[in-house]
Amino acid sequence: MRKRLRAAAAGLVFMLVSAVLPAAVFGKDFKDVSVMSSYYTAVNKLSESKIMVGRSDDIFAPNDNIKRAEVCAVLARANDYSESQYNAQKLPFSDVSNDSWAKGYISFCYENGYVNGMSEDSFMPDGYITREQAIKMVVCASGVGDEALAAVGPKWYSGYINKASKEGLLNGTELEPPKADESGKTPPPARFDEGEYATRQFVAQVTFNSMLVKGSGKTENITVAQASQDTPADAYEEEIWMPSQDDEAWRYYQYYGEDYEEYIKEEQNEKDYTVPEETAGESVIEYVPRGSSDGMLVVIDPGHNYNGVDTGAVGNGLREQDITFYIAEKLKPLLERNGFDVIMTRNSLKENVSNESVSASLARRADIANRNGADLFLSIHCNAGGGTGIETYYCTGSDSGRILADCIQTNVVDEIGIRDRGVKSARYAVLRNTNMAAALLETAFIDTASDAAILGNPEYQQRYAEAIARGICDYVGIEYK
Ligand SMILES: [Zn+2]
Repeated sequence: MRKRLRAAAAGLVFMLVSAVLPAAVFGKDFKDVSVMSSYYTAVNKLSESKIMVGRSDDIFAPNDNIKRAEVCAVLARANDYSESQYNAQKLPFSDVSNDSWAKGYISFCYENGYVNGMSEDSFMPDGYITREQAIKMVVCASGVGDEALAAVGPKWYSGYINKASKEGLLNGTELEPPKADESGKTPPPARFDEGEYATRQFVAQVTFNSMLVKGSGKTENITVAQASQDTPADAYEEEIWMPSQDDEAWRYYQYYGEDYEEYIKEEQNEKDYTVPEETAGESVIEYVPRGSSDGMLVVIDPGHNYNGVDTGAVGNGLREQDITFYIAEKLKPLLERNGFDVIMTRNSLKENVSNESVSASLARRADIANRNGADLFLSIHCNAGGGTGIETYYCTGSDSGRILADCIQTNVVDEIGIRDRGVKSARYAVLRNTNMAAALLETAFIDTASDAAILGNPEYQQRYAEAIARGICDYVGIEYK
């Protein structure tokens, strides 16, 4: 059983905020953190107190992603962790070794209920943290909520985000709740995309906010905007409102116990929350396959970069970015044999699509398909987060994408034989920014041993490639040869 140690970090917060130092001293003058940036205060306070340090003396890398182990270090240091006094617990995670630099930090966060593993025995310390994972951790670390929130709302993270939003933990981030305008209307909050990696500036800001929340009453010296009292969450006390991750419309879930309904908020603020028109399941379209692959261009996107930013999930000794490439390079000649032209977004294992940022890497992949006038786009990924099986995504609202995803899913499930998790819609960047029929295949779970054994096996990689090629032939209406 884990104990909840919620000793207030008030003393530490007081120390931080009362240290009135000239900006030239406390402001580390990171070259890449502008005084004008929203996270300037957070970054500099945390760096001054050695809670979160820069990549070097003058580089903070605010837009880089941050690993799960690194976030544990930040939150432990922000919460009374003492390296000399803390006795690390025996952890159930096989991927956190005894001599890991982060063992004490991870143990501290685990023991205090800030964080769980990705599965019973895997922590994925080197995996990048997503925003919802980081939000869950600061909610628990700040003491405003605990794991009971996982049961609130339609997604495991709904309750955490709602709580974080209400408590001001998201202030100064891109997810800060909007404030009412002069007319008293509250604009809709930012759309929330599940699975997006947190940046270092995001983690710095929410950690800083969590310290303010914990040390309330001791923070007079810092002016930080308080959570808006006009957010939809506050306007409807009984319900949980959540921006949806799968629709461009401003949409909330209204939560009633086990059940919830969706409401749409018009972007223009002209209408109040209105019930969306009934969408009767799948739209019915008449799909006539083209019947020929002549002159058809398929862009294959082996998900993620070899190194740098936008690297993939890891597990069981495998790296997602390697597996996706191995499958893609086996798929290319099969499609060519069936008469397709093929372009790959990464032409060699060690190529990176763009190392500017994750969003640039994703945008570039869609751009390659759009500029070349591709007819089909397929992004190949490995799933992570504990689970098993195969799923294929298409962009919400795209009929051609749904049919393509269905053809691929059916063939891959038939061939590989692990759990069919179905065809799903989402608004992933590579799907919503491509102009053609597009699908994203999650081949299997890299962090589940039995799935990983399949992913790492070259014979299975070949079978994935053949099944995908058959799926694409089905979509086009030609016989696979
Ligand atoms: Zn991926």
